[in-house]
Amino acid sequence: MTRRARTAVFLVLVLFLEGYALNLFAKESQSPYGPLNDEEKRVIDESGTEQAFTGKYTDLNLMGVYACRKCGAPLYRSDDKFPSRCGWPAFDNELPSAVKRSLDPDGRRTEITCARCGAHLGHVFLGEQLTSRDTRHCVNSICMVFESQDSKRLQRAVFAGGCFWGVEERMKNLPGVVCATSGFTGGRKANPTYKEVCTGRTGHAEAVEIIFDPTKTDYETLCMYFLEIHDPTEKNRQGPDVGTQYRSGIFYLDEAQKKTARKLLKILREKGYNVQTEVEPFRHFWQAERYHQNYYERTGKTPYCHTYQKRF
Ligand SMILES: [Zn+2]
Repeated sequence: MTRRARTAVFLVLVLFLEGYALNLFAKESQSPYGPLNDEEKRVIDESGTEQAFTGKYTDLNLMGVYACRKCGAPLYRSDDKFPSRCGWPAFDNELPSAVKRSLDPDGRRTEITCARCGAHLGHVFLGEQLTSRDTRHCVNSICMVFESQDSKRLQRAVFAGGCFWGVEERMKNLPGVVCATSGFTGGRKANPTYKEVCTGRTGHAEAVEIIFDPTKTDYETLCMYFLEIHDPTEKNRQGPDVGTQYRSGIFYLDEAQKKTARKLLKILREKGYNVQTEVEPFRHFWQAERYHQNYYERTGKTPYCHTYQKRF
């Protein structure tokens, strides 16, 4: 090889390594929680397992969202966490499309990974009959970061305004909204099905849970928009959908949300609206069946029941 050729090969190699290092840096810096330490790398990047009963979230029982340690995507909500006594945090449901399942290299178990970044999370087990969903996501604590309601990264808001397909569709693309999920809240029955809620006898309302980034939007903005995409003056109905499950409701997760909701409803009343929206304390969000999630985008249909109308 001539000297010139050697120099050229050397330069190409340097550029390649530089690009690789930059790429690595870019991937690392995507995490809102900083670079992984050695133990996190062992579990998250190399599909390791943390020792049972040592993880910080195994027995945590606080309201909030569990995000991916590696990329920050929301994965699980505290509502779906249950005590499994297995030594690791257990959830019987994941946020829609947040977790990918694949056959573990051991050929027996089902591995679960973050759908966004591929981070190893743990394994999912079916048929143990531990909860009504008969599913246990067994997740390493070290793979997640818990975000409570006063988090500066991920907070929740829960609204009921008639058919959840329309509310979800209208709100999911707002600036700062990370995730919008259709489900049920405000009733008595645990893990209700859509059919059960449709009878009007469970006490639940069709609702949408919004997970939002409080540095990019705020609760008041979301709440105002919610009150402008459905008709808050209708009682126990929304357009063609009639029944208590279609009632208008704001389910507050903390005192600040309650105050904001009441303030906005007062403004509407002062403007002459006969507001029927209930302001209720949030207790539990039950995610609806998979075929209700992202309904309009999946089916290509047009929302029939929710149009924007300026009220503030
Ligand atoms: Zn991730």
